[in-house]
Amino acid sequence: MSGEDDSPKFLCDAMLGGLARWLRAAGYDADFEYGIEDGELIRRSAETGRMVLSSDGPLFDRNVIRRGEIDALYIPRQLTKLEQLRFVMGRLDLPLRKPRCMGCGGELAEVPKHAAVEEAPPLAFRNCEKFWRCSRCGKLLWRGTHWHKITRRLQEAAGRE
Ligand SMILES: [Zn+2]
Repeated sequence: MSGEDDSPKFLCDAMLGGLARWLRAAGYDADFEYGIEDGELIRRSAETGRMVLSSDGPLFDRNVIRRGEIDALYIPRQLTKLEQLRFVMGRLDLPLRKPRCMGCGGELAEVPKHAAVEEAPPLAFRNCEKFWRCSRCGKLLWRGTHWHKITRRLQEAAGRE
């Protein structure tokens, strides 16, 4: 496996918040800000080196994108969130990686089960063995039914069903 830092980082446009969440679940650092304007999107991409993902056609007429100064990928409209994910992973030939927090994109660190006893709902605590905490927002996560559904969809999107 290659190092943690050579995978692409993304900046999703204002319409692609759902895609950002799925990219995080697939293990990628994806930023999204509700209502962000195109100019700001481009400025932030130039600053951070994040690849812009957008369904906004006119954005791709901008010189910085046409000249290739900013990496950007057009996401066809009318795809579902999972089709968007499949599109990005296919185009960029991305593998599934260690999941990140879907809420904020932070990395997840495993926590010992006993450390989760106060916070986890009793049913989850009884039925799950693995717990993680987001290093960025502090949210506790566990591998329950919801997670299994997400994993199955990710594997479909990655073409590995
Ligand atoms: Zn988080």
